[in-house]
Amino acid sequence: MADVLFTGTQLAYLAAASLFIVGLKQLGSPATARNGNRLGAIGMAIAIVATLLDRQILGYRDIAIGLAIGTAVGAIAAYRVAMTAMPQMVGFLNGLGGLSSSLVAIGASWHAVTALQPMAGDQNFSILLGIAIGNVTFSGSVLAFAKLQGILPGGPVVLPFQKVVDGLLLVGFVVASGMFLQDTTNLPAFAIANLISLILGVVLVLPIGGGDMPVVISLLNSLSGLAASAAGFVVQNNALVVSGALVGASGLILTQIMCKAMNRSLGSVVFGGFGGGTSSGARGPETRTTKEIDSEEAAMLLGYARSVAIVPGYGMAVAQAQHAVRELADALEKRGVEVKFAIHPVAGRMPGHMNVLLAEANVPYSQLCDMEDINAQFENVDVALVIGANDVVNPAARSDRSSPIYGMPILEVDKAKHAIAIKRGMSKGFAGVENELFFANKTSMLFGNAKEVVAQLSAALKQL
Ligand code: NDP
Repeated sequence: MADVLFTGTQLAYLAAASLFIVGLKQLGSPATARNGNRLGAIGMAIAIVATLLDRQILGYRDIAIGLAIGTAVGAIAAYRVAMTAMPQMVGFLNGLGGLSSSLVAIGASWHAVTALQPMAGDQNFSILLGIAIGNVTFSGSVLAFAKLQGILPGGPVVLPFQKVVDGLLLVGFVVASGMFLQDTTNLPAFAIANLISLILGVVLVLPIGGGDMPVVISLLNSLSGLAASAAGFVVQNNALVVSGALVGASGLILTQIMCKAMNRSLGSVVFGGFGGGTSSGARGPETRTTKEIDSEEAAMLLGYARSVAIVPGYGMAVAQAQHAVRELADALEKRGVEVKFAIHPVAGRMPGHMNVLLAEANVPYSQLCDMEDINAQFENVDVALVIGANDVVNPAARSDRSSPIYGMPILEVDKAKHAIAIKRGMSKGFAGVENELFFANKTSMLFGNAKEVVAQLSAALKQL
């Protein structure tokens, strides 16, 4: 009977893993993403139920209590979190994933010692991998959370002799791990390996800041998957091994895509101490003037254009202006204006931030354009309407070698025939650098909160 149940569990895990893979594939396109998400959730439900029915479960009371507390905290947090605080939330959840994997590894090791049931050598190795990756993910994510939440300064902090410190910690970890592998009852060595890996997470994330934070969040997400996979080897659970590996691999691919979008190598993000945004390389704003227009004038420019490219950014997310933006796009299309949305991969504060918001407002996928596609078309765009975007349209990334965002591919709004930029004032973007676009001759500034200004534009369009 036990064997039948065992086989049933493995079959259920296989089904779950298949659903994860198909779900991930479907997440690759906005048109199928919702279904992909659903398939992933069904897969996870199957994996959880199969695990709960497994004969290794000793009692359900503690599991039920944990489930109730976790569900309540998760549901309240997800319900309350502002869209703009999503990266912190994702960062924090990555950290919890890392911590739980590390705790699984610590628990398994503790059980082996106290129950006098030594584990196989490869399991001990998995324990060390689990605590190393899990602890780095946990402490690194907590630090990333504190930076993004503004609890700590968001810029990079490079320690004196940073690389020497990194190297010494790494050597310390390897030595302590070696001692543990030689004698798995050597709990002080195990504790030191744990402590060092926690410190490593902090010193690895400290020198990363500013515009590189999206990459680090994505990398930590990938690490949380690898930690789960290591924990899966420790407790010999195939579903955990497979799902962890999938998170690890997809997170790494996303990290690679984000690095490419910012023209950075992963090495330069992790070891570069970049992203502070201290130098704008530009003259002070007081020496230049901007051209300001009101919503009636802007509506005329938009309403009589042939083609308009809407460039959403973090400010649209803050203002929750996506529905108003969709209404504006509809109104323009009704007038025969061709409307496209230009999406930068790191616009906003989390990967896919703009896609999520625009999908929520039911903007048709056919209107969404990737950076490469739209950049080839900007010269033919009559009006580029920049809504709360700043860094992702900053031409300094192309021309100013001293700028911290130099080299990051941008949406080339400055090549459109005219640009209208909606923002509340002249504040800088996430990278903390001045933006020449706002002072350019062809740019008109339309000041105000994105949601209100966009609604005024729609109203003014109706009067044309
Ligand atoms: P930015 O952060 O560069 O600029 C946003 C602009 O929006 C600000 O200049 C601000 O100006 C304006 N704004 C803020 N609130 C409002 C509002 N209510 N109404 C109108 N405007 C508003 O945004 P981008 O999207 O251009 O760039 C994203 C940046 O974030 C990049 O540097 C990226 O590297 C970084 N990042 C991205 C992550 C990701 O995964 N996507 C994660 C973490 C960081 P003002 O205050 O004057 O209104």
